[in-house]
Amino acid sequence: MNFNEDGLIPAIVQDYKTGDVLMLAYMNDEALQKTKETKTSWFYSRSRQELWNKGATSGNTQTVKQISYDCDEDTILLQVEPKGPACHTGEKSCFYRDFDIGEEPSFKREVVHQIFESILDRREYPKEGSYTNYLFDEGVDKILKKVGEEASEVIIGAKNNDDENLAMEIADLTYHILVLLAEKDLPIERVKEELTKRVKGD
Ligand code: AMP
Ligand code: ZN
Ligand code: ZN
Ligand code: ZN
Repeated sequence: MNFNEDGLIPAIVQDYKTGDVLMLAYMNDEALQKTKETKTSWFYSRSRQELWNKGATSGNTQTVKQISYDCDEDTILLQVEPKGPACHTGEKSCFYRDFDIGEEPSFKREVVHQIFESILDRREYPKEGSYTNYLFDEGVDKILKKVGEEASEVIIGAKNNDDENLAMEIADLTYHILVLLAEKDLPIERVKEELTKRVKGD
């Protein structure tokens, strides 16, 4: 690795599930070795001039799933499973503020994951007037009926060559599929694993 003149290399930390960029910190050679050995993230604190195991005091450790390095070997990318907020402010990611450049992202990359999280949240903490809670209360047969209905509506939307309507119906179907996953206690990761196998062509 190409460590800089201070013997350090920047390490970007990313949530391996959501792709969220969590933080940036510096590693020296020892931090990198310890990270490989312990599969938890180790950095070198430039202010305190010491090795630092992320989460040692806060408990917000990171289990390392993958360690990559870039083309010219001067940057590390850690894919981690965070046990809690990465930022010392308590924010999930250090990058929770942004400059106003007059652009609103039209969609969130991990929106399906976020919807699933909120469905699980509703099941845990039911909310008055929630349609999701209505579905859970009615039970699996109601959910399956809705999945069937929404699938038919997808077909109708496609046949009608109405792209706007088709997008809405696919969103409806996706949501009800996610409610079904929650009802069946099937982690969304299981589906992602299956899809990943297919990307690789296995
Ligand atoms: P922790 O590693 O979460 O137990 O926090 C211990 C100390 O590490 C904090 O008091 C901060 O000085 C530092 N620290 C923790 N997280 C970050 C971060 N994301 N970026 C920079 N410094 C951090
Ligand atoms: Zn580079
Ligand atoms: Zn931070
Ligand atoms: Zn619909």
